[in-house]
Amino acid sequence: MKNVKNCDETKSGPLLRVVDLTTWFPVKRGFFSKTAAYVRAVDGVSLEIHCGETLGLVGESGCGKTTLGRTILGLEKTTKGDILLDGYSMSQLTPKEMNLLRQRVQVIFQDPMSSLNPRMTVIDIITEGLVQFKKIEVSKVAHANRLLAEVGLSEDALYRFPHEFSGGQRQRIAIARAISLRPELVICDEAVSALDVSIQAQVVNLLKSLQERYHLSLLFISHDLSVVSNIADRTAVMYLGRIVEAGNTADIVRAPLHPYTKALIAAVPVPGVSRRDRVLLKGEIPSSLSPPPGCPFHPRCPEVMPVCSQQEPVAKRVDGREVACHLH
Ligand code: SF4
Repeated sequence: MKNVKNCDETKSGPLLRVVDLTTWFPVKRGFFSKTAAYVRAVDGVSLEIHCGETLGLVGESGCGKTTLGRTILGLEKTTKGDILLDGYSMSQLTPKEMNLLRQRVQVIFQDPMSSLNPRMTVIDIITEGLVQFKKIEVSKVAHANRLLAEVGLSEDALYRFPHEFSGGQRQRIAIARAISLRPELVICDEAVSALDVSIQAQVVNLLKSLQERYHLSLLFISHDLSVVSNIADRTAVMYLGRIVEAGNTADIVRAPLHPYTKALIAAVPVPGVSRRDRVLLKGEIPSSLSPPPGCPFHPRCPEVMPVCSQQEPVAKRVDGREVACHLH
């Protein structure tokens, strides 16, 4: 695998390609721990992220978006399908190449309090990757100061511990750690969900400016479509392990096609979207242990038709986006 640092926008193909990705977890039962069923967390997802692009991945909690991010990071085993980085299949990487991949793809988790080691000082946290991959060129302090400046923190943070900071500051430390190795793709898993609204906006703006400076690609995972609409160029809407609508964020927010997307938009105030014609979502997301037959959204869909419970809709291209719904 090539060591291409910083995404090259002249490349024709996508930086990340996920093809028919399936991540199922076996449920063991009985004395012999036989596999009785599978939790279908991710069920045949295909998507692409191009250099310098932000793809928003949105859906209710339990829809499989975090599992999808973890599978891309190699933290969960792929059941079926493939993940290609720069055209190279991750399933065929040698341990050495996998190590290289860890430098190119980084993650920011929702809760920095649990993702940052409470016993490590900020300088050790944000330079851990640089030390591990032997990338300290001048001094650790110089690297750490540069990283702190990048995320808007001052040098007096260097020798303090994570619990001495506010939630927003801790997330800035997590961002400094994520960008320390100059990755090409950063997976932001509910990265602003635990923050107050005003701090959310600051962290989103920081991510945008870092993206511009380093030409980063972002996979921005969130349950909140209003946040996603502020940062994502394209958005994929996920329901029960599948992508039900994907396309340009502005188009999706302005005129959603899938009833589930309409319901998500109705649930949150999105700038520029009228509160008229709101679709209210009833009930809970079904268990991915036994998804409903046909369209997985049919038990909750306000526009359900007889065919919906019998036949699973296939994704089709409609108005420049992909939609999986019998209405289209
Ligand atoms: Fe609703 Fe049927 Fe479309 Fe599913 S396929 S979203 S149930 S209209």
